[in-house]
Amino acid sequence: MSSTAPTRAVVLHAAKDLRVETLAPLAALKPGEVRVAMEVGGICGSDLHYYQDGGFGVIRLKQPMVLGHEVAGRIDALGAGVTTLAVGDRVAVSPSRPCGMCKYCQQGAQQHCLDMRFYGSAMRFPHIQGAFAQAITADARQCHMLAPGLTAAEGAMAEPLAVCLHAGRRAGPLLGRRVLITGAGPIGVLASLVARRAGAAEIVITDVADTPLVLAKKLGCDQTINVAKQPDGLQEFAKDKGSFDVMFEASGNERALTGAFDALRPGAIIVQLGIGSTFTLPINTLVAKEFELRGTFRFHEEFALAVQLMGAGLIDVKPLVTATLPFTSAVEAFELAADKTKSVKVQMTFG
Ligand SMILES: [Zn+2]
Ligand SMILES: [Zn+2]
Repeated sequence: MSSTAPTRAVVLHAAKDLRVETLAPLAALKPGEVRVAMEVGGICGSDLHYYQDGGFGVIRLKQPMVLGHEVAGRIDALGAGVTTLAVGDRVAVSPSRPCGMCKYCQQGAQQHCLDMRFYGSAMRFPHIQGAFAQAITADARQCHMLAPGLTAAEGAMAEPLAVCLHAGRRAGPLLGRRVLITGAGPIGVLASLVARRAGAAEIVITDVADTPLVLAKKLGCDQTINVAKQPDGLQEFAKDKGSFDVMFEASGNERALTGAFDALRPGAIIVQLGIGSTFTLPINTLVAKEFELRGTFRFHEEFALAVQLMGAGLIDVKPLVTATLPFTSAVEAFELAADKTKSVKVQMTFG
């Protein structure tokens, strides 16, 4: 699209009130900025939380917000001083926009930036608008060039892959480890690809739906367990105080976390990726088995690593995309993404 055409975007007004609207014209580019003509955007769990519930936890939608932070497109225009990109370049756009100045940025922990402006987030007010739009203004430093063989659909998977690379880092060494993943949505499946790439010896993944488990198996998980059909499916891993060295909890479900405690060996590391609710934990078990419960939040430098690993063919994310719809059918796309019996990752096209 040309830079002067009106930009349409996917705007959430309230829970279940998602509209395709024309935005105010984009401001002229400042030095260091670029305009990106959007090609593909993936619907994330957090987008779904906003759509279904108007937010999660204490983070609530208080004004209309463009959703979306998993995007890739083409450079459409350059601001002054941008020398690392050219018009026509295909890029994945990192939604992470830390200030670079605060103490956490200075320590290399940009995900904890005190002045973060992460796309499509209602954590601060006014909300930070997202990237489900036909065109956006971005800083050049957010744009990561795609290798020639990579599609925009793969580029739009760089963000969730970066989340999982960061989670992998939080877990520590995975070489030779037995890994349990609870939740076979996009994050759980991507975590399995990261764990495998990092040398995990065995990966078992659980979910309550068969569709994502079939995909997880196809992508290399050693064993899948449908815990809705087989509630004691993890029992075989419980003998001698448990089997798994590392657990990635990617469902946000309390029962997934606590239900795995018997299957984790003493000293196991639990990386909690899932969000969205309040958990009650059997603290005595956590203490007695000396579990390490670790949070993991977003990513920063891992975004470039995600683009690099996909570009080199070391992680293939293409099979995760189960449907692609035009952004003008955003409501249909969101409803489909919410149906875990049918969908893993749903993406929208903006071209
Ligand atoms: Zn995401
Ligand atoms: Zn900062």
